[in-house]
Amino acid sequence: MEHSSRAPYPAPSIPQPIRPDGAGAVDKGPRDVMRDMQNPDMLVPPVTDAGLIPNLRFWFSDTHMTLNHGGWSREVTIRELPIATTLAGVNMSLTPGGVRELHWHQQAEWSYMLLGHARITAVDQNGRNFIADVGPGDLWYFPPGIPHSIQGLEDGCEFLLVFDDGHFSDLNTLSISDWFAHTPKEVLAANFGVAQEAFRDIPTGQVYIYQDKVPGPIASQEVTSPYGTVPFPFKHSLLAQPPLKTPGGSVRIVDSTNFPASQKIAAALVEIEPGAMRELHWHPNNDEWQYYLTGQGRMTVFGGDGAARTFDVRAGDVGYVPFAYGHYIQNTGTDTLWFLEIFKSSRFEDVSLNQWMALTPTELVASNLHASPELMHALRKVKWPVVKYPPPMR
Ligand code: MN
Ligand code: MN
Repeated sequence: MEHSSRAPYPAPSIPQPIRPDGAGAVDKGPRDVMRDMQNPDMLVPPVTDAGLIPNLRFWFSDTHMTLNHGGWSREVTIRELPIATTLAGVNMSLTPGGVRELHWHQQAEWSYMLLGHARITAVDQNGRNFIADVGPGDLWYFPPGIPHSIQGLEDGCEFLLVFDDGHFSDLNTLSISDWFAHTPKEVLAANFGVAQEAFRDIPTGQVYIYQDKVPGPIASQEVTSPYGTVPFPFKHSLLAQPPLKTPGGSVRIVDSTNFPASQKIAAALVEIEPGAMRELHWHPNNDEWQYYLTGQGRMTVFGGDGAARTFDVRAGDVGYVPFAYGHYIQNTGTDTLWFLEIFKSSRFEDVSLNQWMALTPTELVASNLHASPELMHALRKVKWPVVKYPPPMR
């Protein structure tokens, strides 16, 4: 006892790369203990991990912050997470009245409002316009090439933007201020039928985000288009959608079947209670881009040929799963884990390992896996497309 009270380090609180069976050794060299503590499954991987799965996780906390009067943004793109070719994500905040300026881009834009409120506007190729206020749990979707804007309301806002190209950057979009700045004034004058003097105060470059006053009620800003409004609204209230309840959590799926505007991006909002897991599964349509909203967890990805790798994830992280790779996510914390699974696809698609096995001839499954009677009995109880369920007690 005397010895332990004089130990220079509180040994149990400093994790070491050592397995319970003694494999590994104490890390005495330079190290980031805080980061090691957040990554227990990176420091001591499960013995089942093996092979050459590349990095499948990145932290918004390790990205460049673009700070403007009116808000900030940071992004996880192929430059931060090289495997993420299908989608890129931007985390943005706007102050009350802060504006993400009028702009457009080649990529589809899908967004989830994390907190606060914003007003979004757009006009489509047929002159049909759109304006809406969005709050926590709401989505929006702007098709590729359609011009739009976002403005923070009284309480400001923070949201996640997802684009259907990993090479995207929100700092490299087509902005109205940028175009004005790079068009000769005589051309602007001819285009709008006014004297060049009318453009004396235009910005000299891309504005991106700027501070404005909080706009009035939506009715005070509406513009009536002779062509009407967009046929499929660009807003969808995802959190208000009744969830599919499962043992251990819930899931809300949104794709072109219930949000018709969203032709290029599909998603699921998943809730995993403490101790529960998102079951073993994969997706037969495309890669999965994840954003962790709350809590902490552990994801293992299986890539075939003996390759599997485990990642610790927490709120604010981005995860990625290559097309068809098997995976599961466990809630390893004491808070509920919420995360988004997002796909470059018009439909959400998912293959459940349990369901596949339950609907395959019993003798075949049993002989292939040398399956125990207990496992075969458990499979016969699979009655629904299992989204997730609590793991067996260990
Ligand atoms: Mn945009
Ligand atoms: Mn998945």
